[in-house]
Amino acid sequence: MVKTRFAPSPTGHLHIGGARTALFNYLFSKHNNGIFVLRIEDTDLERSKDEYTQDILEGLKWLGIFWDEGPFFQRERMDLYRAHAIRLLENGLAYRCYCTPEELEEKRKAAIKEGKKVAYDRTCRDLKEQKPKKPYAIRFKTPKSGQVTFNDIIRGQITFNCEELDDLIILRSDGTPTYNFTVVVDDALMGITHIIRGDDHINNTPRQILIYEALGYKVPEFAHVPLIHGKDKTRLSKRHGATSLLEYRNEGFLPEALLNYLARLGWAYGDQEIFSKEELIEKFDINHVGKSPAIFDMDKLKWLNSHYIKTSQDSRIADLLEAFLLKAGVKIDNREKLIPIVKNLKDRAKTLKEMAQMAEFFFNDDVHYEEKAKEKYLTYETKKILEDFLDGFVSLKENDEAGQKLLIENIVKETGKKTVDVVQPIRVALSGKTASPGIFEVINILGKKSVEKRIKKAIESIC
Ligand code: GLU
Repeated sequence: MVKTRFAPSPTGHLHIGGARTALFNYLFSKHNNGIFVLRIEDTDLERSKDEYTQDILEGLKWLGIFWDEGPFFQRERMDLYRAHAIRLLENGLAYRCYCTPEELEEKRKAAIKEGKKVAYDRTCRDLKEQKPKKPYAIRFKTPKSGQVTFNDIIRGQITFNCEELDDLIILRSDGTPTYNFTVVVDDALMGITHIIRGDDHINNTPRQILIYEALGYKVPEFAHVPLIHGKDKTRLSKRHGATSLLEYRNEGFLPEALLNYLARLGWAYGDQEIFSKEELIEKFDINHVGKSPAIFDMDKLKWLNSHYIKTSQDSRIADLLEAFLLKAGVKIDNREKLIPIVKNLKDRAKTLKEMAQMAEFFFNDDVHYEEKAKEKYLTYETKKILEDFLDGFVSLKENDEAGQKLLIENIVKETGKKTVDVVQPIRVALSGKTASPGIFEVINILGKKSVEKRIKKAIESIC
């Protein structure tokens, strides 16, 4: 039975790269009818924060990545790690190290000065006598020679010489365990069969394999996924835009757009770009994840987002749009306007936030005119057009689009102006902008009363 896990440290928001790692693990396990585990690696007591754990859980749920087991918290499993460290100690596969932080720091500095590799010099490895009263850390006895080889599913065969590895601390003198140790104990006890993670962990892998072997546990399969880069080919960071998953939600992206985008970020499947979650589960193949870093492309993400906005149910988008409008401080006087607004804007807005910005004017009769729009279209010359329009409009019935068209045609004829020159002042009067959905759509979404109010206000604003 395939079992994968996502094992984030709650020392920051759920990063877009972390979300992709979680997704690959999820898809791989679901594709193989396996189990997906969530484990929070919170042994760094100082840097781990509950708010980040919440952010991770919320982000995964938002994306629709549901775990079958967990969340497990390493903080609650400390006894297990200690017991395993003692087991290694008793079997002679680990040793007590009495070197103080000051001594280690001095050795480090000296090594740097002499141009040597910074590695623990194994002072305590073969001590004849122990020092009962002195505090100690427990170090793993890394073999001094030999090689560690593993077959990475993505990278192929990788070999490390043991000489390159030093005797790492597995339990600090304050009793807290270190990452390379806890990760092995947990992955082994939880029965994880495949470790899919960022390739920044490749260098940790030989150390972990040696620990598996020392503990007598089966070594799992590894798949190290290349990191995500920005367009400038450097590791994706804040400089490139938002890196936290939930920031994308707050910017008005739909979860299925992110899920679809992240799945294809590094994983190739011919030319197909649009995938539902079910399709991803069916088609995802870890063997087709590339070796080189994937480039984060915002335009493509926006393209996918607009695809999902266009193809979602109007009522769902309306609910989401409402939340964005409320967040922007817009008072929703009439919820019934939301559906026609969505119908109107879903082909134009790339994000929900953008849609909310486009939709804002529908909800406030006290129109705010964009400066340039007012200057050009609310002038002494156009006042007459607005007055004529209002005159005719008051006697039309609600939603009489044919009547509205005739009215505009008549004004065009009477004034000898082009249609656009008649429509634009009306558009600015109603929306404050020079670009908006079709004028008749705007008129009919606003309704008769609101249109009259707005045209009157525009006329009054012209002195
Ligand atoms: N807690 C580690 C991290 O967030 C997990 C690495 C791993 O998957 O082994 O980087």
